[in-house]
Amino acid sequence: MDSHLPFAVPDIGEAEIEEVVDSLRSGWLTTGPKTRRFEQAFASFLGGECSAVAVNSATSGLHLALEACGVGPGDEVITSTYTFTATAEVIRYLGADPVFVDIDPNTLNMDPECVARAITPQTKVIMPVHIAGLPCEMDAILQIAGAHGIKVVEDAAHALPTTYRGRLIGTLASDATVFSFYATKTLVTGEGGMVVTRDPSIAARCRVMRLHGIDRDAFDRYTSERPAWYYEVIAPGFKYNMTDIAAALGLQQLRRLNELRERRRAMAQRYNEALADLPVLLPPAGGSADLHAWHLYIVRLTDAAPMGRDEFIERMSERKIGMSVHFIPLHRQPYWRSQYGLDPAHFPAAEDAYRRAASLPLYTRMTDADQRRVIEAVRELLG
Ligand SMILES: *Cc1c(COP(=O)(O)O)cnc(C)c1O
Repeated sequence: MDSHLPFAVPDIGEAEIEEVVDSLRSGWLTTGPKTRRFEQAFASFLGGECSAVAVNSATSGLHLALEACGVGPGDEVITSTYTFTATAEVIRYLGADPVFVDIDPNTLNMDPECVARAITPQTKVIMPVHIAGLPCEMDAILQIAGAHGIKVVEDAAHALPTTYRGRLIGTLASDATVFSFYATKTLVTGEGGMVVTRDPSIAARCRVMRLHGIDRDAFDRYTSERPAWYYEVIAPGFKYNMTDIAAALGLQQLRRLNELRERRRAMAQRYNEALADLPVLLPPAGGSADLHAWHLYIVRLTDAAPMGRDEFIERMSERKIGMSVHFIPLHRQPYWRSQYGLDPAHFPAAEDAYRRAASLPLYTRMTDADQRRVIEAVRELLG
C-alpha cells in the first residue's frame, strides 16, 4: 500500500539548516543582521529600486501596508472574494470595510470590470491577489486606481516569482506588494513575509509600525546625537518583526528560488500534458513570455466529469493523496456573509470556480514517481 502523499511539504536543504544553526550559535535570534541581509537580498532580487521590510507573516505585512496607506474607519478596500481570509481580515483590523468583487472565470483573478463598478467615494485601496502565481490584469487595475486617486496593495502571497508583461511582481507601479513565506509557499521561512514598496514614506511607516511604533532613527547611534539606549514611541505599533532564524531560512531559500521555480514549472507542464484529455479545465498559463510561480495547481472539473468535486477529492484521499480546495470564496464564509449580507448570486464566476476546483499536490520535494502516482489516480477517476 502506498504511503500518504502530503498536499505540501517545505523544501529545506542542508544550506538552510546550516544557516539556522549559525544563527543559533551566533547568539542573535530575533531581528538582526540576517534580517537586514535578507531584506537587501530580496530587494536586489527585485532589481534593487525598492525597499523591502521583513515581517513575521504576509498577514502582518498586508496590515502594515494598508495602515501606511492611511486606511481607517469608513474607508472601503476592494478585493477579490476568491482568496484566503487573511487578505480581507486586515481591512477589518483597521476598522475599514472590504468590498468583495467577482473573478474572471478564466484566470480566477479579480475581474477589473467588477473593480471599476465597485468604486465609490469611500474607496481607498484596491487589493489584487495573484491566485496560484498567475498575475492579475495589473495594467487595467492600476489604470482604474490612477484615474480615481486610489492606492493599490498587491497580495502577492502566491506570486514569487511571477512576472506581468515581463516585469516581476513587486516592481510594478502599485503602492506596496506583500509576499508570504508561510510553510507551504514558494519561498519558506516557516512564518514570514515581506512588504515591498518604492514609496519611502510607506517603507518608513511599515518599519516603525512593525516594531511597537518605535522610531528607529531616534535611537540609531550613527545618525543621532542621542545615547544608544534612547528611543521614541510615535504610535501604538505592532509586534510584527521577522526573527533572524526565519531570515536565515529566507536567505538560503532566496538563493535557490529560480531553481525551485523551474522545478515547479516543469511539474506543472507535466500535469498539463498528462491531464489534457480529461474532463477538467487546466489552470490558465498566462502570457507565454511571463513567469508563473506555480504556487498552486488548480484544476476544475467540467460537467462531463464522471463525478463531482467533493467525491473526486474523497476518492483521491482514499488513495492517500493530499488534496485541497483554493478557495472557499469569502462570500460563503459565515463571518463575511453575515457581516456584509453577501449573496452568492453576485459572484457567479467565483461560485462556479469553487464548485469545480480541486488543487493537486505540486511542490519541489515531490519525486517524479510521486507525481506519476497523482496523475495515475486522477486518470483512473476521471478518465
Ligand atoms: C498564505 C496567504 C496569505 C497569508 O500569508 P501568511 O504569511 O500566512 O500570513 C495571504 N493571502 C493569500 C492569498 C495567501 O494564500
